[in-house]
Amino acid sequence: MSVPSTTSRPVAANSVWPRLEPLLPQVTKPIQYVGGELGAVVKDWDAAAVRWALMYPDAYEVGLPNQGVQILYEVLNELPDVLAERTYAVWPDLEKLMRAHGVPQFTVDAHRPVRDFDVFGVSFATELGYTNLLTAIDLAGIPLLAADRTDADPVVLAGGHAAFNPEPIADFVDAAVLGDGEEAVLEITAIVRDWKAEGRPGGRDELLLRLARTESVYVPRFYDVDYLPDGRIQRVVPNRPDVPFRVHKRTTMDLDAWPYPKKPLVPLAETVHERYAVEIFRGCTRGCRFCQAGMITRPVRERSITTVGQMVQQGLEFSGFHEVGLLSLSSADHSEIGDMCSGLAQQYEGTNVSLSLPSTRVDAFNIELAQELSRNGRRTGLTFAPEGGSERIRRVINKMVSEEDLIRTVVTAYTNGWRQVKLYFMCGLPTETDEDVLQIARMAHEVIKAGRAATGSKDIRCTVSIGGFVPKPHTPFQWAAMERPEVIDRRLKLLKDAINAHRSLGRAIGFRYHDGEPSLIEGLLSRGDRRVGAVIRKVWENGGRFDGWSEHFSFQRWVDAAAEVLPAYGVDLDWYTTRERDELEVLPWDHLDSGLDKDWLWQDWQDALSEYEQDDCRWTPCFDCGVCPSMDTEIQIGPTGRKLLPLTPVKGLKLPTGAQR
Ligand code: SF4
Repeated sequence: MSVPSTTSRPVAANSVWPRLEPLLPQVTKPIQYVGGELGAVVKDWDAAAVRWALMYPDAYEVGLPNQGVQILYEVLNELPDVLAERTYAVWPDLEKLMRAHGVPQFTVDAHRPVRDFDVFGVSFATELGYTNLLTAIDLAGIPLLAADRTDADPVVLAGGHAAFNPEPIADFVDAAVLGDGEEAVLEITAIVRDWKAEGRPGGRDELLLRLARTESVYVPRFYDVDYLPDGRIQRVVPNRPDVPFRVHKRTTMDLDAWPYPKKPLVPLAETVHERYAVEIFRGCTRGCRFCQAGMITRPVRERSITTVGQMVQQGLEFSGFHEVGLLSLSSADHSEIGDMCSGLAQQYEGTNVSLSLPSTRVDAFNIELAQELSRNGRRTGLTFAPEGGSERIRRVINKMVSEEDLIRTVVTAYTNGWRQVKLYFMCGLPTETDEDVLQIARMAHEVIKAGRAATGSKDIRCTVSIGGFVPKPHTPFQWAAMERPEVIDRRLKLLKDAINAHRSLGRAIGFRYHDGEPSLIEGLLSRGDRRVGAVIRKVWENGGRFDGWSEHFSFQRWVDAAAEVLPAYGVDLDWYTTRERDELEVLPWDHLDSGLDKDWLWQDWQDALSEYEQDDCRWTPCFDCGVCPSMDTEIQIGPTGRKLLPLTPVKGLKLPTGAQR
């Protein structure tokens, strides 16, 4: 593959490009390392008081569309004296060449060495990116252990959902930020700017101390962990008087004040999403007990219909994207979603802009919205997520969907012209039995039967997609035991056989699943403590890279590393994964405050075991999860009664009549 010439772009003084460029013809997809995308920013290095390198620790094709990184990149670069550049995980072929030729981890914007920056911010959506963090730190020439770093090294800062329990990577990061990043990065920037302007008093330690004193930046080195003889944690306490006992999450309350991204990055190489994505609200109060994102992003904060409309218009004009995603954890729950969808659909009718909504809510309203959004004749797929196969397990996980609702909804989709729907479930849920999983097959058969009866056609399909359950910190299931991979795999085999036991119906049902092994390791990393850091390091030293990719993931490598490292601490892989915790156990993340009250979480766990459902506090009285009082706020939902402002049609996106449908 040829590499685009960069001769028209100036090469920064500290750029590694002259050394990197000759290596690129030898690697796969070299274009991912070139930068220069629409939306990319290269600023004057010397004019910047504070310099951030931002990383999504996966390959460019996954990392570039990441909303979190794009938002922070833009927020930071809007400051006149701040510079932010991006870096992604390099594939093993380039890593090998970089090591052989002494090329350090670089940013794609100006190909500057990551070690030259003040802050190296890494956003984790999943814990399986931890080995990629180690590769990047090591390739950058930054000491792997935070304790070995000097004033010449950047502050390695973790963010994203996995930062709500950064203990497994506590040895490798200098700090972690919990929650929303928009305002947090500005506060951190101000602290770094002042410290540098003052001549870096007290060195790195003083800078970290100033960050810790904000009470919203966690600096692991300022906390000691004591263990009980049986391996459980006795306590986590500050080891100096001037840092807080608990670190609190950041929450951006007014999303309308932060309408980012305004200038979305348009990738040069193929990526997993190529669309303008606008987050229509943050937080979720539906209360699905397995869902960490729903719990840690409370309270609900809606972006107004007016701002969404303006963002879509500006984002499309800037990027030229032909697709808009209206994102959130449960988009159909926005209080003005109906007006929003019809307004946007009307606005872009007759253009080649397609609009989509991640569709997980199981009701006919969702199909109405999807119909509205497909006015241009383009139908995006419909995905419904009952998550559990039996009514019983759905009560346990608090997913209030009846089988009748599901069948009625899917049949409505078929009768409205959809030929294919996707149904998403989990396997390995707390209290799950073989029978709960086998109910998925029966449900899928009923869906096809009802669909055929309603449409009179055999040309309808559904895909059953199964993910492995992973208990996550700050959820009611944080105390739950994981199921063993062999049990998961046996249940999935039973399910597959049960789907295919009926030949005619089985042929109309696709079946996709992940086996249980990666979930077990994700479980180790998500609920691990500082001792798990040695396992991550061992796996990385033994070649672990891109653990989120099935072709790179090696279960045996993790099992071997755990067996080598953990016995010295009197614990093992099972202890972290398949063991149920009791109420009084100190959890590794108890000193990190997501706003949720631990007593409420425990009660909700007990309710799960009693199969007792909890309503959504958006529509029913507050049930005291703790978030709103701890942040002195309340959920923010409409309806506001405001309408989408009249927008100017996007120039250049109009297709000739006839090409639209
Ligand atoms: S504190 Fe009450 S209103 Fe706020 S998110 Fe929790 S349950 Fe809902």
